[in-house]
Amino acid sequence: MKPELSILVRLQGIDLEIRKLKAEKERLPERYDALSETIEQKEAEIEELKDKLADLRTRKTEVEDELELELERLKKSQQKLSAVKTGREFQALSKEIEEIKKANKAREDEILQLEEDIDTLKKEVESRKKEIEGYEKEAAAEKKHINAKEKEYDKKIASLTKERDEVAKEVKPDLLARYNFLADKRGGVVIAAVDQGVCSACNMNIPPQMFNELLREERILFCPSCQRIIYALKTKI
Ligand SMILES: [Zn+2]
Repeated sequence: MKPELSILVRLQGIDLEIRKLKAEKERLPERYDALSETIEQKEAEIEELKDKLADLRTRKTEVEDELELELERLKKSQQKLSAVKTGREFQALSKEIEEIKKANKAREDEILQLEEDIDTLKKEVESRKKEIEGYEKEAAAEKKHINAKEKEYDKKIASLTKERDEVAKEVKPDLLARYNFLADKRGGVVIAAVDQGVCSACNMNIPPQMFNELLREERILFCPSCQRIIYALKTKI
């Protein structure tokens, strides 16, 4: 293999490693992000429960106020009962009293039911809060882990980049520019072996004449299909 090609292969090796590390670093916050999303969801659920709770409390106050007024009305009606003169009046008043009592009983039942529902909702809010606390603890630990890992990755990437820059100095500028351009377009894989006349990267045939030239290793050649830098497989890297 031509020496400048060997250098490019080395460069590609380093670049691929840098790419891999950067991709891994990018994925580090995945679990943390998922945890944050869960926390947000739970917080939204709490807000919803609190809204419901507020509605129930408002309703409870309403019914309690009604009940208070109606109890007052009942008391007055009962007082009036002893003062009525005719049987008809007595009957009408008795009926009214019965109706107030019935309605008040319904109010009392509703208040009890509301109290029960309020209790249930309060418990649900508490349990959501506990869940959030657990998730927050987990997220904090995860954040710490990510920060430490990121530092490790940055260190590795920085040292590889330094090495890369050194190696890149050994490549002619126009070839390096072409290599960089292709690395961008082809996911970092720029150099391809040609096996029995076929480019191993794009699986297209190399014209026989070009393949013969490739075997002579006189100059750098590019795959006519994928434009990658090619070398014949028979040569050892
Ligand atoms: Zn190709």
